Amino acid sequence: MLKIENLHARVEGKEILKGLSLTVNPGEVHAIMGPNGAGKSTLGNVLSGRDGYEVTAGSVTYNGVDLLALEPEARAAAGVFLAFQYPVEIPGVNNTYFLRTAFNAQRKARGETELDSMQFLKLVREKLKVMQISDELMHRAVNEGFSGGEKKRNEIFQMAVLEPKLAILDETDSGLDIDALKQVSEGVNALRSPERSFLVVTHYQRLLDYIVPDFVHVLADGRIVESGDKTLAHKLEEHGYAWLAQHGEPAG
Ligand code: ADP
Ligand code: MG
Ligand code: MG
Repeated sequence: MLKIENLHARVEGKEILKGLSLTVNPGEVHAIMGPNGAGKSTLGNVLSGRDGYEVTAGSVTYNGVDLLALEPEARAAAGVFLAFQYPVEIPGVNNTYFLRTAFNAQRKARGETELDSMQFLKLVREKLKVMQISDELMHRAVNEGFSGGEKKRNEIFQMAVLEPKLAILDETDSGLDIDALKQVSEGVNALRSPERSFLVVTHYQRLLDYIVPDFVHVLADGRIVESGDKTLAHKLEEHGYAWLAQHGEPAG
């Protein structure tokens, strides 16, 4: 469903992605690990079409279409969802209203009928139950005064409502205590399905105890330098990235 080939991308004139290739099939969960500054967030931003990220070479095919040719809104409507490393606060904008606007924009772009506030509230209630989130969060302004854990849970909740086909989670575990980590992971796991794929960016193996990936990749200096199954994450946790650079292929 997602085929990234030889992707090169620049930020502010500086080349960050330097020939990244990655294939993701429907239903697969791919973990992307790697040192700080490797380009992990840049990858998510390039895939979601964020301003300021210039692709200079390579291709990204998503369900048979050239993803890079689509506007960010069209990518979202086609099912690409990015959960930010640092979720933004939008003071004064009600969380439910914000989410309904995003939801309806996607439906409209797909030529589907929009939901009115009553219909949407019904959907929200169902999803809140599944995600075990208190509806109090929905009455507040988007992320305003939310704790780190609440922001991350809110992002997972947005994902539950928007039902993406490709969900990119950028360091969803950062700043979470163990209980929040478990709760966020359970939310993600509840959304796993044969049609939905995930790119899970993380620094730490810990998250992958809860969201068990099908594949683990190491992104270093703008490209994937190593791929394996979930045991690769354990090796990295134990030995660090320097070890990978020294030894190339991890043993076993
Ligand atoms: P990671 O998520 O792997 O830690 P990033 O993708 O955030 O890495 O960043 C990769 C490199 O790109 C870093 O050197 C970072 O400083 C640079 N970079 C990312 N975004 C910007 C930006 N908006 N402006 C300037 N440099 C950026
Ligand atoms: Mg980082
Ligand atoms: Mg990052």
